[in-house]
Amino acid sequence: MRPALLNPLFAPITTLPGVGPKQDKLFRYLLGRNETPRLVDLLLHLPVSVIDRRSRPKIRDAEPGTVVTLEVHVDRHRPPPPGRSRAPYLVYASDDTGDVILTFFRAKADYIEKLLPVGEKRYISGTGQLYDGTLQIVHPDRVVDEAGFAKLPKIDPVYPLTEGLAIGSLRRAEAQALTKLPAMPEWISPEVLRRCRFPSLADALNRVHVPVEPTDILPDGPYWSRLAYDELLAGQLALALVRAQLRRPAGTRNAGDGRLRHRIIDALPYSLTTSQQEAAAAIAEDLRQPVRMLRLLQGDVGSGKTVVALLAAAAVTEAGKQAALMAPTEILARQHIKTIAPLAERAGLSVAILTGREKGKERRDLLARLAAGEIDFLVGTHALIQDDVVFKSLALAVVDEQHRFGVRERLALTSKGDTVDVLVLSATPIPRTLVLTYFGDMDVSELREKPAGRQPIDTRALSDGRLPEVIDAVGRAVTAGKRVYWICPLVEESENVRLTDAEQRFESLQQRFGDKVGLVHGRMRGADKDRVMAQFASGEISVLVATTVVEVGVDVPAATIMVIENAERFGLAQLHQLRGRVGRGSEASTCLLLYREPLGEMSAARLRVIRETTDGFRIAEEDLKLRGEGDVLGTRQSGLPGYRIARSDVHGQLITQARDEALRIMKDNPKLEGASGEALRCLLYLYERDEALPLIGAG
Ligand code: ADP
Ligand code: MG
Repeated sequence: MRPALLNPLFAPITTLPGVGPKQDKLFRYLLGRNETPRLVDLLLHLPVSVIDRRSRPKIRDAEPGTVVTLEVHVDRHRPPPPGRSRAPYLVYASDDTGDVILTFFRAKADYIEKLLPVGEKRYISGTGQLYDGTLQIVHPDRVVDEAGFAKLPKIDPVYPLTEGLAIGSLRRAEAQALTKLPAMPEWISPEVLRRCRFPSLADALNRVHVPVEPTDILPDGPYWSRLAYDELLAGQLALALVRAQLRRPAGTRNAGDGRLRHRIIDALPYSLTTSQQEAAAAIAEDLRQPVRMLRLLQGDVGSGKTVVALLAAAAVTEAGKQAALMAPTEILARQHIKTIAPLAERAGLSVAILTGREKGKERRDLLARLAAGEIDFLVGTHALIQDDVVFKSLALAVVDEQHRFGVRERLALTSKGDTVDVLVLSATPIPRTLVLTYFGDMDVSELREKPAGRQPIDTRALSDGRLPEVIDAVGRAVTAGKRVYWICPLVEESENVRLTDAEQRFESLQQRFGDKVGLVHGRMRGADKDRVMAQFASGEISVLVATTVVEVGVDVPAATIMVIENAERFGLAQLHQLRGRVGRGSEASTCLLLYREPLGEMSAARLRVIRETTDGFRIAEEDLKLRGEGDVLGTRQSGLPGYRIARSDVHGQLITQARDEALRIMKDNPKLEGASGEALRCLLYLYERDEALPLIGAG
């Protein structure tokens, strides 16, 4: 159970004064939570910059586009003309160097009159913009008089926000949350504290949210670094605990005599590549050992990981046990079963699929057969880890695209058997340090060759001014019976709210090509998605407009054209994944990258790399060079997926330090006992990495 002293931090933010249901919704969105965020979520939402009020430029010198603080004289008001309540309320102000217009939308006149009385001096702070040559500030962040200014913090943190949430509300909530911070034991060891000169947790949180110097909020500064180290240590310690548990001798051996594997290999319409053979052999060897397998199988999209996973499952079946494969999406799970089922059938391996869509009697029957051991290999989504999914003897858990799953899911699946071997599939070549961050120490197999017969992909980058030409070319391709993916990025903030670009593009292409066009996006129901995908696979529709839901795993070998709109917005790994959807059949393929000008240096470099090579390992290396490790996983900015504070580009050093420290702890105090163990448990709960604690019992 979570130590009681942490409870105040896990109180919902709606317990803070001034945070009501409307704010709750905004904060959920901002902090990426489905439920009401807790104080801890708020406190771990860190500033991106500061407003520094120590320098106060004159109006003439105020730099447009930046936050400025001005001392001005209020000259006159111009309320919206009668009957035009949508027009802004303008206030004209000046100093001895020029004029500034303060603009308010939907403002009450009496409020503005009180805020900015004509003839008085006021201090204004906000983002300046040039409008017809005059400086304008729309909705200033702060408007105060002399006395108010004296009380104003000279440095204010600026946070990532979401539409509708005012910076002031967020700052107030953060300040309130800080007052609830309980006294916590220090979990960082004295040696590390000394060596890294970390401040205490309380100091760190107070200084990033109430900066004294602008540098206090920098990710590489001591305050942020302390928080990053905590987060990384929690992650590494959780992994180490799980690993220690998994690495205990399993006592049983999970591979049979090879008879099913031979049958599968004989039934394949192709021969395995050398690296597929090597990977399968390494896995079989792991399965034979009395120590649990923990292996990562990395290979580019289309390198043929699924059949390797199937061979692993077959080895387990030969030994009279069961295997499971968990994929992150419904589409992917169905894709896998489609590849697997015909091969498995011929070999006499019984397979089934379980996702959120199998319900009622169908589901009950399936679970009964699973519990009776009549299903050898179960493929599915998160649905696999539900409590009522019981295996007769699960011996192998294959997890596809693992970085989308947390330790919790992994544990939940492996705990469904006594001695479950773990095989992780990843289509994104992951550098060693990141393997450590996400998986801990794992063995790695790589599929470096492409299956024989693959055609090269002709990749070109075009300015989106040439969209009409591209649409014409797509028209010709459709007439010639070809199949086309058309990818639109998902504007992240709009994911849940507005129409996506994909929906708009779908409509415009539909006007031109009629019912030859289909659409899939992340918000569609699983069944609808599958139906459209099936229509595309069968050729009933020729153009599939999609958001990045097709990114991973989808396999329609007949598709030969990939158009990616706003390609400049995608990371290299993502572009590579997307492009990997074509070039899978025997025909030559084309990938058109449409970009919007002006193209930034980084985007230009990315498009260059993607044009030059189709080798995923090389692309991963270039990506690393270009932007640091975080983005190799195709994530936003330089954040580490699953981590809120630590960043691979800034805190790379800390990852290794945290790992070494976790290993030391596992050696000296593997059950987390005594006062130092107590403190570390507190850390694990704070960062919600406590899932492994039940494995070692109470401290
Ligand atoms: P991945 O999961 O690594 O992206 P898949 O396992 O989905 O790749 O394989 C992609 C396609 O290649 C599938 O249609 C599969 O049948 C085929 N394939 C796999 N291995 C080979 C091989 N050795 N030779 C030819 N085709 C192969
Ligand atoms: Mg795959």
